[in-house]
Amino acid sequence: MKRVLLTNVRPDLIQAPYPASLVDPFGERFTRGQGVFTLTGHLHAVGTHLIAQNLQAPSVVLEYPTLDDFRAELRKGYDVIGISFWINHTDTALAMCRIAREESPGSTVVLGGHGVLNLEEAVPSAAERKALFDHVCAGDGVRFMRELLGEDPQAPVAMGIFPLSGALPPWLLPYPPGMIVPILSGYGCPWACSFCASSRFWNYRHLEFADAKALYAHIQRLLGIYPRVESFLIIEEDYFRYPKTVRELGKLVSEDTSFGGLKRFGFITETSIGALNLYEPDEWLLCGLDYAFIGYESKFAADHGLRKRKGDAIEVFQNLRERGILTNAAMIVGWDFQTPENLPEDLEHLAACRPTQTQFSRLIPYPGTALWDSLKEEDRLDLSVAWNDYHNYGGSMRHKHLTPEDIVGFIEGGHRHLYETLGPSLLRMFDTFLNGYEYCRRSNRRQLREDRAQRFKQRLRIAFPLFKICRAFAPNAKVRSLAQDSEKRYCELCGPPSLGLRVLAEVMLARVAAHQLTRALRPSKPRTYPCKRYVYDGRGGADGRPFRVEYDRPNLGYTIQQRLGRVVRGRINH
Ligand code: SF4
Repeated sequence: MKRVLLTNVRPDLIQAPYPASLVDPFGERFTRGQGVFTLTGHLHAVGTHLIAQNLQAPSVVLEYPTLDDFRAELRKGYDVIGISFWINHTDTALAMCRIAREESPGSTVVLGGHGVLNLEEAVPSAAERKALFDHVCAGDGVRFMRELLGEDPQAPVAMGIFPLSGALPPWLLPYPPGMIVPILSGYGCPWACSFCASSRFWNYRHLEFADAKALYAHIQRLLGIYPRVESFLIIEEDYFRYPKTVRELGKLVSEDTSFGGLKRFGFITETSIGALNLYEPDEWLLCGLDYAFIGYESKFAADHGLRKRKGDAIEVFQNLRERGILTNAAMIVGWDFQTPENLPEDLEHLAACRPTQTQFSRLIPYPGTALWDSLKEEDRLDLSVAWNDYHNYGGSMRHKHLTPEDIVGFIEGGHRHLYETLGPSLLRMFDTFLNGYEYCRRSNRRQLREDRAQRFKQRLRIAFPLFKICRAFAPNAKVRSLAQDSEKRYCELCGPPSLGLRVLAEVMLARVAAHQLTRALRPSKPRTYPCKRYVYDGRGGADGRPFRVEYDRPNLGYTIQQRLGRVVRGRINH
């Protein structure tokens, strides 16, 4: 039987304007610039795992290999090599193709992922493309690989049991353990925003991967494999755009008696203001929403044709926050309608939404999108920009009213402004949990009053020490006072802290102080992770997952934490 190697690309550290790691969106974007409160975390390459789990051929999935890791793996002998990449990883993906040709000239090389939209721009010569790779998979990778390997493309597609992701402050644990399990609902997005490579990749269509019943059955299964998981990550471009699935799954999980319903089930997902407005706000809670990543884009976006942004953003964020639901507002900077004069108004509107976390990014044209085509026609693309620079702070667009420096300055200033006025995301997060606990306890719906309230209470178990830390390390008096208010509210709602919690608070305060001092004396590099190797050979792992995990050259700190984690809690850390 043919052997398959599937890999993603390890991105280089970026300078934006200081070094940052693209494998850690929590530190690089969501909680950027928050000092000791900046989180660190990791996500997994779900697409390659889904393919591996739906092939009969034995396979290995590599996550974030260095070029040396990749070369060493190739020497083990593979018939098919699949490289999944994003547009800003194009140069490294092409370097990997060259290595594959050198080390394994008889193998078939396939490129996949959003990066393939870029191939004709990056390698204009057809002969050169042929020399580098054999096939391009622009769409459903499972079907493509099955056809390539001579397997049945119509065979049912298994839902996928993926490794866990996580994020924590580094002083709590330097390598966050697995807390979040991905589950695939669908892909593609019909909103068809002009800049969106993902929507373009799926030709602006939505493809349902699993209906509500299938999702529910898989949730039950995953809770058996990962009994301590904190939250599910429902993978969908705009989950709340599909009310049938949302409502059916919401009913199944909120009435569940097999795993504890809303006590144990909650999820993170991507969505939009337009889609959230299709529901009564309590429905968000009843279907289990824990955290919504929302395409906020700009205060002015709806007036300039972005349909998904129709609706009152401030009201939607407030309704989410008062129900205990965390939010991430993703704002884009560099639209033609943004000017140095109106950007402060845009930022104030975002601040009035009071998101838990924020992602700012520069408007980036990706090849194949409508934005790319229109800018090309207007001669507003700087094609000398390296593909590596097509990340959240880079790109090739010549903006109408803003320079790249204006935009990077605005992004850094925006993070700072939110941190200094709303406090660290960690404070906002636990303050929002207090809201949720208070709100649900008052509800006349049993599922909220009992199940969701208990879930919030469980999440508040370390709130007291965290509020203390927020007070002690606050960036200014205003934030210190916010943390004090939260601590007071915690004591009113949950009762006075136990002796154990007070001791824990002192220990954690000392830990954060030590961490801060160490960082001041020896600034650390942004977090990267050792390459991981997932073996799919039909034997699976002892933990009920279809793969075994191996680490290529893990660093010492990582190894120590993994071993301690196993001894202390038996937790699956990856
Ligand atoms: S709503 Fe999001 S995923 Fe959908 S097209 Fe717009 S940016 Fe892309």
